[in-house]
Amino acid sequence: MGIDSRKAENIVKGDWSIASSEKYYGLKNWGKGHFQIDQEGYLNVLPFRDSKGIRIFDIVQEAKSKGYDLPMTIRIQDLLQTRVKELNETFCDAIKQEAYPGSYRGVFPIKVNQLREVLEEILEAGEAYNYGLECGSKPELMIALAHHKNLNSLIICNGYKDDAFIRLALYGNRIGKSVFLVVEQLSEIEKIIRISKELGIQPKIGLRIKLSTVGEGKWARSSGEEAKFGLTSPEIVDATKKLEQAGLANCLELIHFHIGSQVPNIQTIKRATVEATRYYCELASMGFPMKYLDVGGGLGVDYDGSMSNFESSMNYTLKEYARDVVFNIQAICKEASVACPDIITESGRSVVASHSILVTDVCDRISKHSIKPEVEGNKHEPIIESFISILENDYSASPLERYHDAVQKKEEADNLFNLGYLKLKDKGLADAIFWKICQDVVLFYQEEKIQPEEMDRLKGMMAEQYVCNFSVFQSLIDHWACDQLFPIAPIHRLNEQPAVNTTLVDITCDSEGRIASFVDSEDERSLLRLHEINKEEPYLLGFFLMGAYQDIMGDLHNLFGRVNEVHVFLEDDEEDGFYIEDSIPGFSVNEVLKLTQYDGQMLSRKMKKQIDRATKEDQIKPREGTRILDEYLKVLKSQTYLSESN
Ligand SMILES: *Cc1c(COP(=O)(O)O)cnc(C)c1O
Repeated sequence: MGIDSRKAENIVKGDWSIASSEKYYGLKNWGKGHFQIDQEGYLNVLPFRDSKGIRIFDIVQEAKSKGYDLPMTIRIQDLLQTRVKELNETFCDAIKQEAYPGSYRGVFPIKVNQLREVLEEILEAGEAYNYGLECGSKPELMIALAHHKNLNSLIICNGYKDDAFIRLALYGNRIGKSVFLVVEQLSEIEKIIRISKELGIQPKIGLRIKLSTVGEGKWARSSGEEAKFGLTSPEIVDATKKLEQAGLANCLELIHFHIGSQVPNIQTIKRATVEATRYYCELASMGFPMKYLDVGGGLGVDYDGSMSNFESSMNYTLKEYARDVVFNIQAICKEASVACPDIITESGRSVVASHSILVTDVCDRISKHSIKPEVEGNKHEPIIESFISILENDYSASPLERYHDAVQKKEEADNLFNLGYLKLKDKGLADAIFWKICQDVVLFYQEEKIQPEEMDRLKGMMAEQYVCNFSVFQSLIDHWACDQLFPIAPIHRLNEQPAVNTTLVDITCDSEGRIASFVDSEDERSLLRLHEINKEEPYLLGFFLMGAYQDIMGDLHNLFGRVNEVHVFLEDDEEDGFYIEDSIPGFSVNEVLKLTQYDGQMLSRKMKKQIDRATKEDQIKPREGTRILDEYLKVLKSQTYLSESN
């Protein structure tokens, strides 16, 4: 080993503390006080910030002892509660501060996380604030009608509606709920008029406005002239006429807009609020009994913790958001001498993102330098001799120079092999030495302040791929579909220095099943530093802020199914501070097969026939045949992911 690489080794083993981990993985930035490392290097979640922390590692151990393998989703139910309270209280505070005459009437958009336990927790936490529900489809309305009990809270119906949808909503009104039908398309106005006449039920009507303010960020197409939702100004005029003609002018009480999810820039929100309030005031002045202004969703989550207007971030806080909404509505209403509306928001992402953590194990590594070159012996091909000389650096070259020389020799070696002049054994040796030299060079520059430009590429090329036991398509769909970043960190060993540059790959047979961009408070990282993995102890990674949209949108690529799930509550009486209230098993092999029209029983019968044939033809003994069938049946009932317990 050359002098350069020895020096590099020392740098890697330098001082490392828990604080260094906290900084490197950005816990303080995206964690917002809910994630902390304890003295033994375990990552803790703090549902109430000032509460005792729960070791995520302990949750995994407990779940495993109940038979739930990795990968698993962990839901911290108390964190959901915290978020619901924060949203409502922040708006109440803003209203007080601005001496705003209306009230806050938030609703939770079901599409962001439909799971029953999530919804129930949210409704319970929001009860005191009259926090309601938003739905965008018939199934979501079915959920809303049945679970909504607080008659002082609202149900807002967005999305495309057919007759049955409208009937259900009207029946909701009949039994004492305030269900608003928000008109997305002009044709819906006629339907609502017709059906409310048929049923003799007064509708509550809102209009979704197609604002000219265009959002920013990945989901910007929800607003602007080309959006697929909402009414243009001529359509609104037309809709009001239709309502007047039908004698339903007294039913129009609400206007709504939604500029898209994860709005990174507060200016967009301010502009949209101002524009929508103008519409509100106009309609009020025209004599409609306007009462509510619904500013939709869009409140962001600071996934990378950078507090910037980068797509995975937001340049504002919840407090600023609430104050801007309240302030701008009041300012415009005052100007127009119109009474201030009650304010509805439909924030979903911001409420549910943080409560859910995905944990998976690193089950393997793909490394270019796992095989050490053996250069013992004295008779080598000339090309190998040249490589050894670069490796040992017997000509006192700089690391960069050695790298350049190695690249040149590598080309030569590849050519020799292709022309048939180099044996496989020697090509293996040449490549192993080449990767070793590259690794030495990378290590040398790791901690140097000034980096040659080529090092970025080389670092990427030399990074190890850590194989994680999960599917990006099932559990991290937005990363694949729209490059959304999620924070990722080990949940233990955080008192050790992570010295391996990695990218992550999943276990699907799809090269897109990978993660090669990671959050960073300044930019985006292409590599994530993790710890050496070893055989003695599984290495567990947490994926954070996973609670919004990912659960339902994930798909069954390669037939990897839903993952196991546990729901955790804080419990002071327990030694480790928590208990698992609910666990939901992930999909079994049998269940995912059913979704593609295979029937487990039928498959087993077909398999049995083939085993019988092999037995009859004397390829196997009957007892072995039974063993094979047993294994087949066992796998049918098992999880789709890699399992340690078989
Ligand atoms: C999706 C959606 C929401 C939720 O948006 P978030 O950005 O998650 O808060 C709210 N309202 C409507 C109409 C939506 O379509």
